[in-house]
Amino acid sequence: MSYIKVSNLSKRFVRRGQSTEALSGINLDIDQGSFVSFIGPSGCGKSTLLRVIGGLMNAEEGDVTVGGRTPLEMQSDKQFGFVPQVPALFSWRTVLQNMNIPFEVNRKSKIDLAEQKGDPIELLQSVGLGDFMHAYPRELSGGMKQRVGIARAFGSGAPTLLMDEPFSALDEITRELLMHQLMKIWEQHKKTVIFVTHNIQEAIYLSDKVVIMSSRPGRVSYVIDIDLPRPRN
Ligand code: ADP
Ligand code: ADP
Repeated sequence: MSYIKVSNLSKRFVRRGQSTEALSGINLDIDQGSFVSFIGPSGCGKSTLLRVIGGLMNAEEGDVTVGGRTPLEMQSDKQFGFVPQVPALFSWRTVLQNMNIPFEVNRKSKIDLAEQKGDPIELLQSVGLGDFMHAYPRELSGGMKQRVGIARAFGSGAPTLLMDEPFSALDEITRELLMHQLMKIWEQHKKTVIFVTHNIQEAIYLSDKVVIMSSRPGRVSYVIDIDLPRPRN
C-alpha cells in the first residue's frame, strides 16, 4: 500500500538567468515501513527529491503526499527525521544528552511528543555505543558520531527518516559496520526510510526498493523503480 506518493513532480532551479531542470516528471510510490534507496550520479537530483518529499523545498509542478496529506499540511518537523552526511551534535553535550534534541525541538514548537519515542539508552546500545553515552562528541570517531545521529533519528517521534548519504564521509570498514547496525535498528523500529547513496552495495544490502535516477544532457531524470526481495526469518 502506497504511503508516500510522488506524482509527476518537476523542479527547476533558476540561477543567474540559467535554468536547471533538477527533477522532471518523477513518479514514485513508497510503502509504509519500507526501506528505499535513491541512487544515481552526482547532480541527478537525489537531494532535491529528498528535500521536496520532506517539505523543505517546493516544486513547481506535481504533488507529494504522505499518508494522503502534503508535507506542508503536516507539522513536517514531527513527520520527518533528517540524517545528514555529517551529523549535527552539540559539542557541549554528552551523547545521551544529544539524543534528546528532537524532543526539545518539538516541545519548543508546541507539538505533542509522538508516541514512537524510543528508549535512548537502548537505542545507543543497538548501535554499539552503550559504553559511550556519557562521552562528549569530541571523543567519538566520525563513524561513532554518525551512529549517534542514526540512533537519535530512530528514537525521535518521526515515522519517516530521510538520510542524505550518511555514510559517504566514512571509510569502507566503518561503512560496512554501520550498514549492519542500521539494518539491525531498522528491523527493531520499522520506520519508513529514504536513503540517498552513491554506493550500489549499500543500496542493495539495505533496501526493499531501489530507485535509480539518471541525468542526461537537458537535465531530465529517469526513475527506474526496482523492488528487491528481502530474506525473512
Ligand atoms: P544529487 O543530490 O543527486 O547530487 P542535487 O539534488 O543536489 O543532486 O542537484 C540536482 C541539480 O540541481 C544539480 O544540477 C544541482 O546543481 C542543482 N541544484 C541543487 N540545488 C540547487 C540550488 N539550491 N540552486 C540551484 N541549483 C541547484
Ligand atoms: P549533497 O551533497 O547533499 O548532494 P550538494 O553538494 O549537491 O548536496 O549541495 C549542497 C548545497 O548547495 C545544497 O543546499 C544545494 O541545494 C546547494 N546547491 C547545489 N547545487 C547548487 C547550485 N548549482 N547553485 C546553488 N546552490 C546549489
